[in-house]
Amino acid sequence: MSNLPDEAFRDTIGTIDEGGKRKFIFPKKPSGKFYEYRKIVSYVLLAILIANPFIKINGNQFMMFNVIERRFNIFGFPFWPQDFYLFVISMLVGIVFIILFTVVFGRIFCGWICPQTIFLEMVFRRIEYWIDGDRGAQMRLSRQEWNAEKIRKRGIKWTIFFLISFGIANVFLAYLVGSDELFLMVEQGPIQQASNFIALLIFTGVFYFVFVWFREQVCIIACPYGRLQGVLLDNKSINVAYDFVRGEKEAGRAKFNKKEDRALTGKGDCIDCHQCVHVCPMGIDIRNGTQLECTNCTACIDECDSIMENVGLPKGLIRYASEDEIEKKAPFKFTTRMKGYTAVLFILLSVFVGMLFLRTDLEAVILRLPGQLFQHKGDKISNVYTYKIVNKTMKDYSDIHFELIDQKGEIKNVGKTHFKVVKEGISQGTLFIEIDEVLLESDKTKVKIGVYNGKELLETTTTNFLGPRSFN
Ligand code: SF4
Ligand code: SF4
Repeated sequence: MSNLPDEAFRDTIGTIDEGGKRKFIFPKKPSGKFYEYRKIVSYVLLAILIANPFIKINGNQFMMFNVIERRFNIFGFPFWPQDFYLFVISMLVGIVFIILFTVVFGRIFCGWICPQTIFLEMVFRRIEYWIDGDRGAQMRLSRQEWNAEKIRKRGIKWTIFFLISFGIANVFLAYLVGSDELFLMVEQGPIQQASNFIALLIFTGVFYFVFVWFREQVCIIACPYGRLQGVLLDNKSINVAYDFVRGEKEAGRAKFNKKEDRALTGKGDCIDCHQCVHVCPMGIDIRNGTQLECTNCTACIDECDSIMENVGLPKGLIRYASEDEIEKKAPFKFTTRMKGYTAVLFILLSVFVGMLFLRTDLEAVILRLPGQLFQHKGDKISNVYTYKIVNKTMKDYSDIHFELIDQKGEIKNVGKTHFKVVKEGISQGTLFIEIDEVLLESDKTKVKIGVYNGKELLETTTTNFLGPRSFN
């Protein structure tokens, strides 16, 4: 790559000019096979993203990340603070999954799955093309004085962008506080639900700022995943890449000349038309190699393919390929690093699924009251305990009671023996366990306690029962 004419890309980014000011990008409207595929994937993912907080399974919101109340629902499974270890494992699985994917497939997540890219390229940018026109028209409009046309177009565009930002903010709020809270706010109005309403306005403002002005800067400056690319990618990672061997050949890239036989002159297949640069939403030239800014959006693949088709050269001058594939013609190989990541991912996934299935709907903790010794009650020994029951489900349990399992004895609850634990509720109290002294084999007996709703055993827990040291 040393024969490249301009090395400025190494210490500058495409969206900042020489004076350090923001250079607004006006990418050409993409078209082609990959763009059509991306549209389908994007709209399916958008539908899922929007529907997620409004779907309920067994009364649980399908996806919810209520950070303030520390309640999370993932795929309809509610995660309580007691389940935090599961949440951490699911996050670890997610991170390892993304790392593995990045090592093998480069930034496929950024180009195809990331909500920022999908909203910007498939929602806001498409509306912009519809109102302002393609690259040339957008540049003209941006330069032109504020006349009736510009006021009208900007007015329509910014109003639509604001409404979409407001819509996204509603969905985002539904993920954060739950869709029920969101509907309650709609029902009761902004005065009664002031904190949620203020949050909604702040989110709307942030989304509006991001999609109207900040745009690709999110990927370049703010996104930590983007910054990790330099560490995660290697020569074997598959990326959107320019085949510089074919594109430059011995004599380098050169403008197209119908009468010339490029095989004879030694010129590369790149006809230096700059269309791949014009179409790039990050404002970079992919011919300079893999760069931090590239989100692997595939727009340059489509654009170059259509150019190649027009000039009668084979497609794929820009394509999904690894550096080794291009330089050494080495086929794709599943490297030791990739195998290592896959193994870690598999182990984490197995642990997570196992824990998910072992997790109960009701959690019971029964602990001996600290500082209390056992008591004699006639022939019986009595110990006092505190209990805490967490109902993690969306249904009420109306007939909860305790029974000893594998041990003769009696459990006496202070208050009602049979009680109710409401959905997503907690019940706490005190109970006594009484066991005949003759039945105790040591001064410390492990007892198993069943938590029943009616006749249904919901959960078992163990605790220690203390008795006298010597027995007659
Ligand atoms: S679109 Fe293809 S031919 Fe045109 S400059 Fe880019 S790489 Fe070269
Ligand atoms: S270089 Fe190509 S793949 Fe990368 S952001 Fe630009 S257009 Fe998209």
